[in-house]
Amino acid sequence: MKSHVKAVVIGGGVVGCSVLYHLARAGWTDIMLIERSELTSGSSWHAAGGFHTLNGDPNVAKLQAYTVQLYKELEEISGQSCSLHLTGGVMMADTPERMDFLRLAHAKGRYLGMDTELITPSEAKAMFPLMDETNFVGAMWDPVEGHLDPSGTTIAYSKAAKKLGAEIVLRNPVRELTQQPDGTWNVITQQGVVHAEHVVNCGGLWAREIGRMVGVELPVLAMEHMYLLTEPMPEVEAFNRETGREMVGVLDFKGEIYTRQERNGILLGTYEKACKPWSPVNTPWDFGHELLPPDLDRIAPSLEIGFKHFPGIEKAGIKQIINGPFTFAPDGNPLVGPVQGLTNFWVACGVMAGFSQGGGVGLALSNWMVNGDPGFDVWGMDVARWGEWASLRYTNAKVRENYSRRFSIRFPNEELPAARPAQTTPLYDVMVAQNAVMGDSWGLETPLWFAPKGTEPKDIVSFHRSNDFGQVGAEVRAVREKVGVTEIANFAKYEVSGSGSEDFLNRLMTNRMPKKGRIVLTPMLNEFGKLIGDFTIARAGDERFMIFGSSAAQKYHMRWFEKHLPKDGSVRIHRFDQTLVGLSIAGPKAQALLQKLVDEDVSTKAFKFMDFREMAVGGAPAMVNRVTYTGDLGYEIWMQPAYQRLVYAAIKAAGQEFGIVDFGMRALLSMRLEKNFPTWFRELRPIYGPFEGAMDRFIRLEKNDFVGRDAAAKEKADGPKLRRVSLIVDALDADVMGDEPIWAKVNGKDFGAVGKTHDFGAPRFDATGKPVRGSTAATGASAVRGIHDGEWSVVGWVTSGGYAHFVEKSLAQGYVPAELAENESEGMFEIEILGHRRPARINVQPLFDPAGEKMRG
Ligand SMILES: Cc1cc2nc3c(=O)[nH]c(=O)nc-3n(C[C@H](O)[C@H](O)[C@H](O)COP(=O)(O)OP(=O)(O)OC[C@H]3O[C@@H](n4cnc5c(N)ncnc54)[C@H](O)[C@@H]3O)c2cc1C
Repeated sequence: MKSHVKAVVIGGGVVGCSVLYHLARAGWTDIMLIERSELTSGSSWHAAGGFHTLNGDPNVAKLQAYTVQLYKELEEISGQSCSLHLTGGVMMADTPERMDFLRLAHAKGRYLGMDTELITPSEAKAMFPLMDETNFVGAMWDPVEGHLDPSGTTIAYSKAAKKLGAEIVLRNPVRELTQQPDGTWNVITQQGVVHAEHVVNCGGLWAREIGRMVGVELPVLAMEHMYLLTEPMPEVEAFNRETGREMVGVLDFKGEIYTRQERNGILLGTYEKACKPWSPVNTPWDFGHELLPPDLDRIAPSLEIGFKHFPGIEKAGIKQIINGPFTFAPDGNPLVGPVQGLTNFWVACGVMAGFSQGGGVGLALSNWMVNGDPGFDVWGMDVARWGEWASLRYTNAKVRENYSRRFSIRFPNEELPAARPAQTTPLYDVMVAQNAVMGDSWGLETPLWFAPKGTEPKDIVSFHRSNDFGQVGAEVRAVREKVGVTEIANFAKYEVSGSGSEDFLNRLMTNRMPKKGRIVLTPMLNEFGKLIGDFTIARAGDERFMIFGSSAAQKYHMRWFEKHLPKDGSVRIHRFDQTLVGLSIAGPKAQALLQKLVDEDVSTKAFKFMDFREMAVGGAPAMVNRVTYTGDLGYEIWMQPAYQRLVYAAIKAAGQEFGIVDFGMRALLSMRLEKNFPTWFRELRPIYGPFEGAMDRFIRLEKNDFVGRDAAAKEKADGPKLRRVSLIVDALDADVMGDEPIWAKVNGKDFGAVGKTHDFGAPRFDATGKPVRGSTAATGASAVRGIHDGEWSVVGWVTSGGYAHFVEKSLAQGYVPAELAENESEGMFEIEILGHRRPARINVQPLFDPAGEKMRG
């Protein structure tokens, strides 16, 4: 065993072996995988081996597609068979709602380059004759599904990595991890100490324990999972003989069942409602190649439906029941990336579908470690998406909820109840008493809308407009016509201070830093010139800046800030989280209202648009930004939590004479739509350049050499390929939700690079570390494959949208090829909503206050 390596990967399951292979492929060959026992000694050996491409997050779906494509390469390099069976699969819908869900997934697939097809139950039965098709209303066919041999595949990764020079040490538990002052690690194992620059936690069932070695409680929990294998079935053999094909995989949402052919019989697994965590607090170190006792009673309700839906299976004898544990994060997606607050400590764990996702996880993590960037949009699996509130107990409740809902539809307006409330502001009970329908915003309870008095404050979940529609409309109109107040505690807030703070921010941000008492809006880019942040920055003092951003990105952004902090201590950064809360007032009467709450002049002359001032509001010390996301005249008021009730009460009392209303997040988001304002993680993501994102006026290429400047300058010089646009949609009773394809009447025109997908070659970098043009790191954005229908082609995708209540229009934002972005012609675009293509028209200028006169006051 070597005593010094560049990186140690802990854990020899499918994920660890994939990370090892990808690191070696990216050129890091001085690396070592350390495995406690033999390879596949966690979940990997007893997996059902199924793989598929579909995922609710299109970016994760792309990485799943990469994983499936990789297996051929892996077999060739390693000489080890993965026993790949690319059978294809069908997803069965038993209700119109589930069919809507499949239509949505199919529409998404159009811009991901997936060849899914909506088919009838009879067509599905022809591929899997053991079903009773009368139980279903429709189905979706996906050709990129199948199964493989889990152990063979893990070994194939390990052999391929070894061929490239990586070392694998077996039967050697890692017992301790200690960090050196220079940020490197001593990995203390049974066989001795290995010094490594980087450590990767791929501990699977023990990932939590390895996290604890470095003082981190990772949000992962193992669940018991069962599948059964039948005796050989004559029906299966007959089908194979007659068609020359294997039966396809089937996913039955109602039965919470997946099933497929395994040898001459059937494999059938369930995600039962009565699910059971395994080792909820500590994973025993002596657990290895063992199975858990089967518990048929637990899965009986699923089996009952399963046998009704697939009567052909009921007759078969059960040969074996497998019950094994595997881990989940609270939302079911992996935890990948560097852990904020620790240097050179990486995770790739919580991977619940190692054979669909392991390859993509390995690729993204190796890119990240070797090149400093994952090369794709991996937010959906970034470990930074969880905050401190994702504790052991939170994770337990959420993982159980997620497991039991694995095959349930999540509606766009659906808030899930488990582990709530986690964090609350001092106004929580006040809001609840006012009939607020609360939502979870990065672990914080936030008012979404206010239900009429006397009604239950509850969303009726739907893909269509629902019971909040009238109320949200009323809130919007009240703000636009009078004044409204809303909670904004769910923003991220940071303070950057010290003598180096201005230089630091000028180096990270694309815009110039403001003068004292002023505010700027500014994106932040990575080295590849892609958008990794969008902030409001106020200068509170000569060497003090307040930064406001996306709540969900707090850890993601802190990780970036910390990475770039100067070593000389000249910059300090503080994340407030819920130690600073806020209220926003907006509407034509907002200025008059604020004037009643303060003892100084806040007229437009004295306190202009984009001014910042520290002042007492309603008697409480506060910081005030003269800006709001409503795009109206308005203010953001920030205070310590202890003052929030005082300020709120003062606002409500003083606002009576102006007819003040409370409004929630839904009204806020509706108002931003009619201003064409983008949102972080929807319109603005690390796959888009700043000019693609239409952020031109915040990009000061001339100011200094900020991170991403050269790439941004090149994007500008070459002209962006894509462009963010806003569209007016002729919607029926359903507005866009995000991820719908945008069609255009372009008579088969091909949009070049925009029309290319599944380009998963490893990103290439030149000697200076810059991405090579045309490689995946350089192109970044997901891309539309050539999907045509006569004169019409899919040219782009929706990022978000909804109903803009004040202008009374259904609006969408999304990306289209730049050359189409200013084409406002009628009849040029259509957006596919729930399977129906609805006419849409680009509107370049915001529909509300296009000249921005109202917000300037
Ligand atoms: C019944 C069942 C069916 C499944 N079906 C499917 C399926 O059809 N498709 C699919 O994609 N996925 C399936 N899965 C899930 C799949 O098994 C997991 O996604 C995958 O195995 C996770 O791999 P991993 O490498 O992250 O973890 P693991 O396989 O748990 O590997 C972790 C490794 O780390 C080692 N380790 C831990 N701590 C240390 C230490 N301190 N020192 C050294 N080594 C250490 C362990 O010994 C182990 O070998 C199934 C799982 C189960 C249980």
